[in-house]
Amino acid sequence: MKKTLFTALAAVALAFASPVMAQQSVSYQVSFENAVHHEASVTATFKGVQTPVLEVRMARSSPGRYALHEFAKNVYGVRVTDGKGNPLTPGRPNLHQWNVTGHDGTVVVKYTLFADHPDGTYAGVNLTHAHLNAPATFMYALGLEQAPIRVQFTPPAGQNWTAATQLKPETAPFTFSAPHFQYLMDSPIELASLQWREWTVQDKGRSQKIRIGLHHGGTPEELDEYTQKAQRIVQENQAVFGELPAFDFGEYTFIACYLPGTPGDGMEHRNSTVITSSRPLKSGMTPHLSTLSHEFFHAWNVERIRPQSLEPFNFADANMSGELWLAEGFTSYYGTLLMHRAGVTSVADYLKSAAYPIMAVAVSPGKEYFSPVEMSQQAPFVDASRSVDPTNRTNTYISYYTYGNAIALGLDFTLRTRFKNLSLDDYMRLLWQRHGKAEKPYTLPDLEKALADLTKDAAFAQDFFKRHIYGKEMLPYEALANQMGLTLQASNAAVLGWEGLRFQNDQAIVAQGTFSNGPLYQAGLDRDDALLTLNGQKLTDQKTLDSLLTQHKPGDQVQLEVLQQGTKKTVSVTLARDPELQLVPQEKATKAARARREAWLRKKA
Ligand SMILES: [Zn+2]
Ligand SMILES: [Zn+2]
Repeated sequence: MKKTLFTALAAVALAFASPVMAQQSVSYQVSFENAVHHEASVTATFKGVQTPVLEVRMARSSPGRYALHEFAKNVYGVRVTDGKGNPLTPGRPNLHQWNVTGHDGTVVVKYTLFADHPDGTYAGVNLTHAHLNAPATFMYALGLEQAPIRVQFTPPAGQNWTAATQLKPETAPFTFSAPHFQYLMDSPIELASLQWREWTVQDKGRSQKIRIGLHHGGTPEELDEYTQKAQRIVQENQAVFGELPAFDFGEYTFIACYLPGTPGDGMEHRNSTVITSSRPLKSGMTPHLSTLSHEFFHAWNVERIRPQSLEPFNFADANMSGELWLAEGFTSYYGTLLMHRAGVTSVADYLKSAAYPIMAVAVSPGKEYFSPVEMSQQAPFVDASRSVDPTNRTNTYISYYTYGNAIALGLDFTLRTRFKNLSLDDYMRLLWQRHGKAEKPYTLPDLEKALADLTKDAAFAQDFFKRHIYGKEMLPYEALANQMGLTLQASNAAVLGWEGLRFQNDQAIVAQGTFSNGPLYQAGLDRDDALLTLNGQKLTDQKTLDSLLTQHKPGDQVQLEVLQQGTKKTVSVTLARDPELQLVPQEKATKAARARREAWLRKKA
């Protein structure tokens, strides 16, 4: 904005604001007259507007999902009036914004929201529920970020809906409040015929309530089993940090929706989480609890142990953070580890899932390009982001979930083997005390400092961060596993590569870009090339390919007949070793190694 215009506007704003500073407030009324066609009607009322132009916006991003979502695309039928109902014509300076002039200090914006994606990022409305992620639902006004907010819902007639939300309930039915804009944006709402369970946790002389509001088509017995297991998972989470966070109003709510057609997701918030899937509890109990475990760990890690780069969250742009290897990766590590400590999964199942991230990092050429910090910074390109043009992420990218998960395991093993009586739990507890409980956002140097203080070894912490966080060096997993009484076992099987193949019409089509360190890439093959025969045998399905490969060992040469961009040719391919890794408990582990392994896996609550 040009300086002269700015000064003029500022002067007008001052004149406008005085002599009476009107009380600012924001309220929303939301109803669902056309729920069957996925529409919600929203009326937003902004009072105490003190500037001649009120800039009303839809968010472009949502905390916890890093791509741009352009929520304004699902808003239409926008009608604006002043406080007396006089129609106003808003200007449109950009895709996301409505500039309202000529108001009387009150601006009323009515709009229709199309909502057909009920997950952690978007909204979904139909006859069975209204599932509303706040940034996807509510228009907000610049300059009114600190104003108190009231939200009132009108469910369709004849429904026995209740509301699951972390918003503060007011006395009027279906009416809630939030102290300010950022709080509202962090507060998803599910209105449905919900089944409820709750329990109380006594913690440091404080009594807090954990609630589950579940929308599903299953039985109360399934919900009982889910609740009992969730209770143990909550206890194991609490044991890592030594206490629960102080939840607002002493309550934390799991907002779960497992209805057919619901996209699978999990999204953390300060005092609640949204967990969604189309799979019913009957067949999805363990994976759903695994998501619950991950999301609850976020109540500490990312919601309160918060990267400075995400504060305050910018709803007008993508939010880049170099810390997601810790915020998401360490949360992924604990999500599955605490499932085992809570007795929900077996040792064998847990060890299988623990070895996967090591394999994924080991096999990925992407680690040559970017460090874990740089992988984290790419979240806006990959996290729920869709683009029309293909990328070369097969060769240049490793998910910060996976990369960070592998680092968490490596750091946990390093602390347990190199230092006396230390583990990753101690590191997380220190971060909680320093940054989470204290609500003091952290930076990467803060994380290194905490590791130095915990281990009383600044040289170690500096070296660790230099090599494995800012640098691209893999941790020595094999040696670390050994000292934990575990063998990191490689496979002896021969494979054509680690790309996905799609079998159709007696051909195996390469379903993705090929890995530069794999046999297919090195044989000059890429996405959409068709593999016809291997040593003259037709590749009709996965089973046929697998049985042909069992006759070979890694390093063997085979002849592949292929169809590439319309040309048939034969290429020679050197088979690789299956990259799969397993963590196997050693029967002959030393007493010390066995003790470390048991201490790692043991129930703590
Ligand atoms: Zn639902
Ligand atoms: Zn997460």
